[in-house]
Amino acid sequence: MHDFHYVAGDLYCEGVPIASLVKKFGTPLYVYSQRTLTGHFQKLDAALAPLDHLICYSVKANSNLAVLRALSNLGSGFDIVSEGELRRVIAAGGSPKKCAFAGVGKTEAEIEFALRRGIYSFNVESEPELERINRVAGRLKKAAPVAVRVNPNVAAGTHAKITTGTYENKFGIAFELVEDVYARASRLKNLRLRGLQMHIGSQLTEVKPFESAVRKVVPLAEKLAAKYPFEFFSIGGGLGIVYQPALASGGADWWQTPKAKDILTPAKYAATLVPLLKSLHLRILIEPGRFIAGNAGILVTRVEYVKRTGRKNFVIVDAAMNDLIRPAFYDSYHEIVPLRRRNGPIVASDVVGPICESGDYFAKNRPLPKVGEGECLALMSAGAYGFVMASNYNTRALAAEVLIHGNKSAVVRDRQSLPEIWKDEKLPAWLK
Ligand SMILES: *Cc1c(COP(=O)(O)O)cnc(C)c1O
Repeated sequence: MHDFHYVAGDLYCEGVPIASLVKKFGTPLYVYSQRTLTGHFQKLDAALAPLDHLICYSVKANSNLAVLRALSNLGSGFDIVSEGELRRVIAAGGSPKKCAFAGVGKTEAEIEFALRRGIYSFNVESEPELERINRVAGRLKKAAPVAVRVNPNVAAGTHAKITTGTYENKFGIAFELVEDVYARASRLKNLRLRGLQMHIGSQLTEVKPFESAVRKVVPLAEKLAAKYPFEFFSIGGGLGIVYQPALASGGADWWQTPKAKDILTPAKYAATLVPLLKSLHLRILIEPGRFIAGNAGILVTRVEYVKRTGRKNFVIVDAAMNDLIRPAFYDSYHEIVPLRRRNGPIVASDVVGPICESGDYFAKNRPLPKVGEGECLALMSAGAYGFVMASNYNTRALAAEVLIHGNKSAVVRDRQSLPEIWKDEKLPAWLK
C-alpha cells in the first residue's frame, strides 16, 4: 500500500530514514515515495488491462513536476482543470494529447491555449461552455474535441465538500438533459463529439456508488455512441484511500489493521466495473488523483512546544493549516506517528499549528505517544490535496518537497524564502 515503514524503530521512506531528510532539509517537509506513487498507477493500470483504457491522473491532487514526470514516464494521461495545470504537464514532459480538461469555469484564454496545444478532450459542464468552445474553435479554424460531463445524480456517501455527482452540486449536466444537449451540440460546427464523462465525488471507499453510476450511465453512453463518433467514456476519479488505521498496538505495524484491509482495491474496483464497461467498446478513461498520490506522501513536522492546560495536552508543531489544510477544511483525519517509534505511555493530544486560527489543528484528542520539544512527527497520507492547497497565510513560507527513489532523495521543490512571499507586492507612490 505504501513505502513508509519503521526499520529498527526509525521511520523510513523506501530506503531513506526520514530523520536524515529532516537534518538536511528542515521542517515542515513533504516527502514523497516514487515507488508508492508509480506502484498505485501500475496496479490500477494492470487491473484495467481487459479494457482499452487510459489513466488520466488528476493533476490537482499533487502537481509537482517530478510527480507528473514519474507518471508520464509510465504512459499516464492527465486530468487538468486550468491552463496552469496544462502548462505544468507540458513542462514536466507530458503530452497534451493525453489531457482532458475539466472544470465549470474555463475562460476563453484557457480554451484557446488548450485548443492550440491539441488536448484530448474538453469535459464540458454547461451549454454556455459548449457554445464558447465552439466559438473559440471557429475563430482558430479547429475542431474542438468535447465530452459532456453527465451528472448521474447518485449519492457518493462521502463528505459534502467532495461530493460532485448529485443535483445539489455545480458540476455536470443533469442526466435527463444530456441527450438534448448532445443533439444541440451536434449542430455546432466546430465541435467534435468525442465522448461522455462523469465524476461523482472523491474519497469513495466502496465500489457501490461507482457501480450505481456506471450502471445508470452506460446505457446512455451506448445510445449516444450509436449517434455520434464517440471514442471514449470517462468514469472519473474518486477512488478512496485509507487514512485511518488504528494506533499501533502490541508491536503490530499501524497500517496492518482490519480497516486498512477493507480498502477499495484496484482489483475490487475492476472486478465490478470492467464487466459493465467492456461491452461498450469505447476507450475507458479514469481520472484518479488521491488514489495515486495520497498514500505516497507525508508531511514531516517538528514539535516546538508541549503545552499542558488543565484539560488538554497540546502538541504545538511547526507545520500549520497553511501547509496542510485538509483537517480544517474537510474535517479529515491524518494518522500521526513519531519518526522514532516508542512504546511508552499514550496521551490524548491535540496536535496544533502556530497559526492564529482555532481551525489550525491536525488532530484533536488523539491518543499519541508522549513526545517532547524537538522531536518530529509524520502526518501520513498527505500526498494528495496537501502541498497543492498550501498558502502563505501568516506569511509562512511554502514547505520544501522531497522525492525518494530507493536510497536516493532529491528536493523537487525548494523551501520558499521569506522575501519571495512579498516580492510581487508594491508600495504606491503616495506612500513612498
Ligand atoms: C478532482 C477530480 C478528480 C480526481 O478526484 P480524486 O478523488 O482525487 O480521484 C477526477 N476528475 C475530476 C473531474 C475532478 O474534478
